[in-house]
Amino acid sequence: MPTIQAASIHPRRALKRLVLTVTVVALPLLAVGLSANSTTAQAPTGSRSGRQAMSDTLRVYYMGYAVGHEAWEMLAGDGGQRTLTSRLDYTDRGRRTRLRADMTIAGDWSARQLAITRVSDTSEVREAHVAIRGRSAIVDYRGRNDTVPVRPGVAAIAGATPMTQHLALVQHWLARGKPASLAVVPGGPTNEVNVAWRGRDTVQVAGSIMVLERYAVNGVVWGWESVWLDVQGRLAAFTTAGGGGLTLEGVRMELEALLPRLRASATRDRLGELANLSKPIRPVASGDVALVGATLIDGAGGTPIPDAVVVVSGGRIRAAGPAGSVVVPPNAQRVDVRGRTIVPGLWDMHTHMMQMEWAPVYLAAGVTTVRDMGNLTDFIVPFRAAVDSGRGLGPRMLLAGLIDGGGPNAFGAENAATPEEARVVVRRFHALGFVQMKLYSLLTPEVIAATIDEAHRLGMSVTGHVPTALSLTAAVDAGMDHIAHLSIRGDADSDSVRAQIAHLRARGTVLDPTVSWGELLSHSTQEPVSNFQPGVAHLPPVLAQRINAMGVSTIDPETAHQRFARTLAILRAVHEAGIPIVAGTDEGVPGFSVYREVELFTQFGMTPMQAIQAATVVGARAMGMADSLGTVEVGKLADLIVLDGNPLDRISNIRRVELVMKGGMLYRTRDIWQAIGFR
Ligand SMILES: [Zn+2]
Repeated sequence: MPTIQAASIHPRRALKRLVLTVTVVALPLLAVGLSANSTTAQAPTGSRSGRQAMSDTLRVYYMGYAVGHEAWEMLAGDGGQRTLTSRLDYTDRGRRTRLRADMTIAGDWSARQLAITRVSDTSEVREAHVAIRGRSAIVDYRGRNDTVPVRPGVAAIAGATPMTQHLALVQHWLARGKPASLAVVPGGPTNEVNVAWRGRDTVQVAGSIMVLERYAVNGVVWGWESVWLDVQGRLAAFTTAGGGGLTLEGVRMELEALLPRLRASATRDRLGELANLSKPIRPVASGDVALVGATLIDGAGGTPIPDAVVVVSGGRIRAAGPAGSVVVPPNAQRVDVRGRTIVPGLWDMHTHMMQMEWAPVYLAAGVTTVRDMGNLTDFIVPFRAAVDSGRGLGPRMLLAGLIDGGGPNAFGAENAATPEEARVVVRRFHALGFVQMKLYSLLTPEVIAATIDEAHRLGMSVTGHVPTALSLTAAVDAGMDHIAHLSIRGDADSDSVRAQIAHLRARGTVLDPTVSWGELLSHSTQEPVSNFQPGVAHLPPVLAQRINAMGVSTIDPETAHQRFARTLAILRAVHEAGIPIVAGTDEGVPGFSVYREVELFTQFGMTPMQAIQAATVVGARAMGMADSLGTVEVGKLADLIVLDGNPLDRISNIRRVELVMKGGMLYRTRDIWQAIGFR
């Protein structure tokens, strides 16, 4: 059995323990790729013109569901140079993604070349290419095609996937002596990423102890990701939320059973980062507070009150009305908000809070309540607890438990093939404090019936996609209380659409049409996102890059506008029929999509007042919480925002959130935006 050698990256104490317990090989850091086999990787071979090879495979999970693999191979060449090839192949809800990364890496793990290729049965499309030539890099990435100056020894990484890129990135950071930040291409000289060591997961695999070093990476995509390396410096696991997307994880095949354990460590890291970020942000007022002088739009629908006073104590609204009629208690901290407008805190009724960064972003945007429409249970439950307990800044989180029918095209970790399985899933969500179930596409009619029955029996409501097995009308007849996304198809003035709308109306169904999300996905890429979403100017560059790449490249702006107008026409009919519509973004542009949702609501016929209510009290009513939330009225929880401008005059003034109060704690939104890296 070979002996352990000290790799410079590992703290001495850990190494001592390794010497005693680990039966795998550890070679010095720079020899990774040349070492003998461990329990996991395949043995080195002497093939390929005498060069040694190492290979390994990770199982890929998307939204907690096993969907594919990433296989990589590293070959050692002359002068310590290596080539690393990685192939990611997974199928999400029937859509297959195949990406290949070809990396050439110097002995010190700096990049020589990186190519990311999207592969299909019929084509290979280059998505990114970087070639480092001394102090310059030739970059071909996301429409950029230029030569940029770089520091010698730069790292190359283009996005979260293929995941093996992160192996090279972390090794590069270690080889450079763990600097506070790393310059990377193709991000350009100003785009820097942060890598940090977060801890160590000691795990048992087939009777052997393995120590996995856990690193966090920030800035490859928006937000923190986790990377685990084993003592040989090889990739053991990886997790990313895709920078405002859905969670993708990779774990070495034989460590698969440890994924929940690793995920728990990553979750602790994320919540620690959230706590660190939140701690310096102090409320500008809390306890006994009086907001004095603003125009009050209480959200109940009545006439706005000019020169109003809102008195808050113990996290609740104690008085709200015209200055002359409300007594400000002598002990209350007076906050002068003359010239401003107070409206209730906003509700985003369709979120997937898959990374901690969402929480402060939402609060900064004035969103005080979100409904999460599908997540990793072992992330969202502790995440909610951290925010509820005040350890991290964020909105109130109402959770909907995602359930699908299983099989290769299913979505999410909780699947049910039988009514009995469905009831177990529902009970588990209920026990964890979920208030709603979210149905997904592949459920059978029998399982749908059992899910709805069990949910209703437990006092949970039911939302979701219309399962493929049912029509929209059959789904609401089966008991779905809400429908996610605009699921009405056809022309607004057709008999079929009229019949569907009448059916929803008769059943009292609530709709979250996620219309801003539809606009973002369906707009022509010839039209800049900033045309309809000025919020992109405020995003961290790496997030702006992702958002600006969204849309459809194959249609012109005029065609896209015509199609979108048809969507708005259906929504106009839905609204005119009196069906409750709530604001939901389905991620979109973090923080800013909720404003766009409200703006779009006025485009299909809501008055500004109705649009504000759709993003506040209508959501609270839909969730059965209007007795305590949703309006600025006496006795309710003190969730409100202070706008510099009146949204009744101009709906886009909803974007001008200066102060946000959640549960009586008043924050300056600018403080939170800055802490989370928005401009
Ligand atoms: Zn969604």
